[in-house]
Amino acid sequence: MNEAFTSNEVESPRLSAEMLLAHVIGCDRLRLYTDADRPATPIERAALRDLVSRALRHEPIQYLIGEGWFFGLQFTVDARVLIPRPCTETIVESVLQHARSRPGFGGSAGESVLIADIGTGSGCIGIALAKHLAHARVVCTDVSADALAVARSNAERHEVDDRIDFRQGDVLAPILEHAACGQRGALSYLVSNPPYIPDVEWDTQMGRNVRGHEPEIALRGGVDGLDAVRQLITQGPPLLRPDGLLLIEIAASTADAVRELAHDERLLSSVEIVNDIDGLPRTLIATRSHK
Ligand code: SAM
Ligand code: GLN
Repeated sequence: MNEAFTSNEVESPRLSAEMLLAHVIGCDRLRLYTDADRPATPIERAALRDLVSRALRHEPIQYLIGEGWFFGLQFTVDARVLIPRPCTETIVESVLQHARSRPGFGGSAGESVLIADIGTGSGCIGIALAKHLAHARVVCTDVSADALAVARSNAERHEVDDRIDFRQGDVLAPILEHAACGQRGALSYLVSNPPYIPDVEWDTQMGRNVRGHEPEIALRGGVDGLDAVRQLITQGPPLLRPDGLLLIEIAASTADAVRELAHDERLLSSVEIVNDIDGLPRTLIATRSHK
């Protein structure tokens, strides 16, 4: 399996092979080594053959085993949602850091904190925040009813469904219609990993595992990649309370345009774009001013 994966350019061939085997046998990866002599049953062999042939067609391993990982938590994933990425953890880390250092932003009991997660997909951002901010209420939105079904099941899995509302709709529309969140200054945090791949990158730069298998609606952000990003930056700030944060994951190639859009917003101050581990500018973090 390892050799077939390597020659077919499947990502992380050895790890992928071990994950599929462990999934089929129903054990963790370590047991593969401690129990190496146990013969596979015919049913296990057939299941493995099917998964291997799908992996050879570059279907992401997380879809094959139905699990993804984000911020130390496990999420149920399938082809209805984007697979959570490590880069997106920057949004969660930045919110937690802010919340814990500012009185009234959710670090302690009794603080009422509202968070909106736009384009929630698997629910990973909103659920990780609800898990770590025990007093926060979160509204998770998506244009896709299929994605919301997955997000809802993940919220139940992590026992935070009693503090999360799920709403379907286009970008900020469900927030503006939400009784608690739609008011001026209601939100402490407006967070989003929206679709942001510009058309030219979609046509030329996407990996086979992404373009062939993940939902197109989760990825493509229009000609310049800014269809959703622009709406979040221009319509989001009034919904935030003073000192609240707007955090958006973006494509590195759009960083200059995003910086300009954010600088033009009267209600935003201290605009920064944080780099990912490869040094590429990937996360807009801007503060709602006191104006
Ligand atoms: N938040 C998840 C994450 O970080 O893994 C998923 C992010 S995925 C890049 C973008 C999500 O936005 C998808 O679930 C997609 O269905 C949703 N989406 C696409 N267009 C949208 C729109 N116009 N309004 C709201 N959500 C949208
Ligand atoms: N980071 C993802 C990718 O490059 C894109 C996610 C998105 O469009 N928000 O595959």
